[in-house]
Amino acid sequence: MLVAHCIMAQMPKLLDKSCIEEFLNSFDNVLTDCDGVLWRGDDIIGRSNEALSLIRSLGKKILYITNNSTKTREEYAKKCESMNFVADKEDIMSSAYATAFYLNQQQFNKKVYILGASGIALELDEVGIAHTEVGPEHQIVDPLVIDRVMKLEPGVGAVVVGFDSHLSFPKIVRATSHLKDPDCLFIATNRDEWFPNTNTDLLIPSAGCMVSCVEVVVQRPPLVIGKPSKNMFSILSEKHPLQASRTLMIGDRFNTDILFGKNCNLKTMLVLTGVTKMEDLEEYASSLDEEKHNLLPDYYLPSLDDIINLLKDFSS
Ligand SMILES: [Mg+2]
Repeated sequence: MLVAHCIMAQMPKLLDKSCIEEFLNSFDNVLTDCDGVLWRGDDIIGRSNEALSLIRSLGKKILYITNNSTKTREEYAKKCESMNFVADKEDIMSSAYATAFYLNQQQFNKKVYILGASGIALELDEVGIAHTEVGPEHQIVDPLVIDRVMKLEPGVGAVVVGFDSHLSFPKIVRATSHLKDPDCLFIATNRDEWFPNTNTDLLIPSAGCMVSCVEVVVQRPPLVIGKPSKNMFSILSEKHPLQASRTLMIGDRFNTDILFGKNCNLKTMLVLTGVTKMEDLEEYASSLDEEKHNLLPDYYLPSLDDIINLLKDFSS
């Protein structure tokens, strides 16, 4: 019985009628993750747009924060509009934008080798930083001849690794070869392990897979720009008046969203529509591993949708 009591004591609060008022009074700003919270790929999750509109109608500011580096802020703003989320470009923070912002802030003036998608390339263009092309590279079948045919682009001073659906052996060789130079910066947009998806037969690798491919060879860690690193909160705070203690982070992953919230001293809420499932939450809550306890959110909800009924009850 004592064990059961301890386990219950560790579970985060399910957001329900009993705590909705305390919850709403605890924040003015919301940072919401996107994949697994608002949408999966091009499919909106339930009525997440209506849920955010209701929260906004209570005077809360909503900002979007995603580790996905495949799109620009502009493209995310269009995606939001097409799914009826209210979002201005300035309300969106992505790891691609944050990477370009960081390099620009560092007055980086060399070329970036991109192992990633067009989101990174276009955001670098916005700040005038030179970079290599993105997209597929001709596959060299025999790795033993690669040293005779491959030429590296000159002037590369940073390698940025994000999600790349055209990941290939030649691209990894280019990334690792540039990083032989100890002065070449090694930057990862994010290290998410896999994408939330609805096909339970598939486990779809995310940027963490690409980052590990390079890291294991060069044997030095990258600077990670996306969550759980605090970079994106610092950049957002320069553009919006955000008081950490009055900001709520909503996400679907422990080791990115919730840890980011904790690193930045934000309130945290986990939803179970993405990567993390109820069984994971229960496992973390009942674990004897303190590291897992530290990744537990303040609140959880099965789906962001569920807040719609809670808020209707609250305002009536
Ligand atoms: Mg997510």
